[in-house]
Amino acid sequence: MPVRRHLGRLGWVRMAVIVAWLAVIAVGGLVLSDSQQSSRAAMAGRLDARTKYVATFISIYAHDLVVRERSGAESWLASSRVDAATLERTSSALNLSAAVLLDGRGRAITPFSTAGSSLDSMLARGAAGLEGVGSRVSLVMLGQTPVITFAVRFRSASGPRVLAGAYDVANTVLPTALDHMLSTQGWQADLVDSSGARLAAGRPGPAPADSVTFTAPVAGTQWRIVVRDPQSQLYSFLYGGGRWVSWLALSGLAVAGLAIILLIAGLARQRTQLTVLNRELARLAAVDALTGLRNRRAIEEYLNEALSAARRHELALSVLVIDVDHFKPFNDRLGHRSGDAVLVHTARVLDGALRTEDAIGRWGGEEFLVVLPGTDEAGAVQATERLRAALAADQPPEASETGLPVTVTIGVAGWHHEEMSELISRADDALYGGKAAGRDTARVSAVDTGGAIR
Ligand code: GH3
Ligand code: MG
Ligand code: MG
Repeated sequence: MPVRRHLGRLGWVRMAVIVAWLAVIAVGGLVLSDSQQSSRAAMAGRLDARTKYVATFISIYAHDLVVRERSGAESWLASSRVDAATLERTSSALNLSAAVLLDGRGRAITPFSTAGSSLDSMLARGAAGLEGVGSRVSLVMLGQTPVITFAVRFRSASGPRVLAGAYDVANTVLPTALDHMLSTQGWQADLVDSSGARLAAGRPGPAPADSVTFTAPVAGTQWRIVVRDPQSQLYSFLYGGGRWVSWLALSGLAVAGLAIILLIAGLARQRTQLTVLNRELARLAAVDALTGLRNRRAIEEYLNEALSAARRHELALSVLVIDVDHFKPFNDRLGHRSGDAVLVHTARVLDGALRTEDAIGRWGGEEFLVVLPGTDEAGAVQATERLRAALAADQPPEASETGLPVTVTIGVAGWHHEEMSELISRADDALYGGKAAGRDTARVSAVDTGGAIR
């Protein structure tokens, strides 16, 4: 029973440890997942910031471009008469692919173009309606090629004029800016105008299905930057093998932890079993199998210790040797089993009549040894009376079956600082004295009075 109780408690402890361990692992999983989420957010935040940074850069670039064109136009194209050669010089100084000079109402003053008249008329169209705005920068498609066009209004000797021109985008820093400031693997970036023109960079072709998009407007223009990055590239640390390594490590840790817990629990279980069984074994080794009293070895040990204590503290101590009178007839008449039952009954009655600090053991056959610590002969004699009275009052059924009362004869010996064997032997002698005197009596060892008491 105690083994089961101990093991039951161990089972609960093991369950609690396993639950605690799983809770730790779950918290680890949450932390890991949370850190992956925040890494993901940080990564997206970085690319978003870079997109805005490029948008700012391009905005400054477009603003500078207009400032430069206007200052060039005011320097070289503000006199009342401007010939084609002057415009051409201005155009090549500003590195333009095409340029037209218009009066305040949008009529061409001095057309000049290296790209042909269609571009000229496009530039003239783009320059219309600039009164309120003053300047405009646009991205236009010339066939498959994006071209930057601009128009700036400036003052001249003959009133307001407009310089409209076009840049080949390839000659500007825009492709480089898109290419180098945003690049991640598999990315796409577009600089798009509201008219639908676009300057593309990065990987060509349709956008990947799982891409993340970042956009930023380019201030001062109609342009917008659109960046698409496949999730698998952007969050490669989450998509690659590395993503599983941390989870694998966590699972490995969980399994290893559980294995260790189970191993330790198994060892603890075995240990507990062993301890409990050892205790049980020790108990059994000290108990008389028939009566459940201390056996001879155990009562001897108890007496030995009690004698040591008595010696140390100058205490009194007495022993009783008790023998069942005429026991043999119970065996002979009713059989050995009934004899056993009489012994068990007698043992229980005698044990029950003793004080808690007294100890009784089965000395052998139908004999018992009682140790009475702190008790002198007079006290011991009182004890014998109590014992005999208790047995007289509580007879086993075998007594009525045979018509023979169960009685005992008791030899009493008070301790007189002699060795244990001497003490017991004196009690034995007193017992035999009692037997000789007719049984059902108690006798005190000769060292003292030697007198019979009844
Ligand atoms: P006396 O009054 O002189 O003590 O007579 P007795 O019959 O009690 O003494 P005896 O020594 O002649 O007999 C004791 C008997 O107790 C002998 C033995 O067979 C029996 N006996 C000893 N141990 C046990 C036991 O464990 N069970 C049973 N049933 N009998 C036992
Ligand atoms: Mg005997
Ligand atoms: Mg006997």
